[in-house]
Amino acid sequence: MSDVRDTVILGSGCAGLTAAIYTARGGLKPLVLEGHEPGGQLSITTLVENFPGWPDGIQGPELIDNMRKQAARFGAEFELAHLAKVDLGVTPFRLSTENGKEIRTHTLIIASGASARWLGIASEQALIGYGVSSCATCDGFFFRGKEIAVVGGGDSAMEEALFLTRFASKVTLLHRREQFRASKIMLERAIAHAQIELRTNVVVEEVLGVEEKEVKGLRLRNVLTGQTIELPVSGLFLGIGHEPNAKAFAGQIDLDEEGYIRTTGNVLTTRNGVVVPGVFACGDVQDRRYRQAITAAGSGCMAALEAEKFLEARGR
Ligand code: NAP
Repeated sequence: MSDVRDTVILGSGCAGLTAAIYTARGGLKPLVLEGHEPGGQLSITTLVENFPGWPDGIQGPELIDNMRKQAARFGAEFELAHLAKVDLGVTPFRLSTENGKEIRTHTLIIASGASARWLGIASEQALIGYGVSSCATCDGFFFRGKEIAVVGGGDSAMEEALFLTRFASKVTLLHRREQFRASKIMLERAIAHAQIELRTNVVVEEVLGVEEKEVKGLRLRNVLTGQTIELPVSGLFLGIGHEPNAKAFAGQIDLDEEGYIRTTGNVLTTRNGVVVPGVFACGDVQDRRYRQAITAAGSGCMAALEAEKFLEARGR
């Protein structure tokens, strides 16, 4: 089959683009399907201070743009498409995109990442885009001089809260328990910041303002006392982690209880515990532990090398 690709990469974040650089440089002419969130999480972050090689840090979108250019220079092709269906039971594998295209490929690198998680309450969902957001970088600008709240106790929540102090007059950080998951340095920065107030042991019961189509405040419940209070804010930002984008693979490769792709030997996928030849997974879609740009890039490199070895062994 002449129209069969050697390698298709799902996702254009740090993992997918690193896989694209390596497979393109290896002469495999990879096709990158960019997915719903081109550039992945780095493209919606601000300063990245811990990616080696950038002593003064680099803006996330710039870092991702550099990687994309680097992959394109070696012949990677990009398509703004999202996977609708996949059949790993046939070889070459069959992929269908949401715009109705069918693609066949000898190897598949899944780098579809993870997407922001929501609280899931009706009032929050009704007000997304009307004061409720999961992307401080995208929407912080709209809250200049206003009071807002951020939910979460990890590094994402700290980073969002700190970033939002550039715009908001006050940021209240709401966390559902006493202990924080955030790294010490990020937590200390948030605690030390004059515009940030931390409130622990609280959950958001309702976002107020659904009728007005504008966030007016939050009804909070203290999980220890059961007491509820209203917090008047104009915006609510979620910083509560991410969901792996792996639903399309359910039943075809092994996922763990939270929906992350299970891998063995770093990036090999399995079905009922047995390795699925030619299908590799890298980045946040298979990593619930490290989830860093540099670890995503590292696993993208591993997936690319495995794909090359797989094709080489089959004389391609
Ligand atoms: P995370 O570490 O999993 O933290 C998620 C936080 O949200 C937790 O505190 C969790 O509470 C809370 N949460 C989850 N579901 C919730 C719900 N339904 N209601 C209320 N709270 C909820 O996720 P993350 O902060 O996105 O970080 C992920 C990884 O990326 C980490 O390894 C982190 O270090 C890294 N990261 C690094 C940076 C940086 O270095 N600049 C920035 C962002 C992220 P519990 O603690 O109670 O579970």
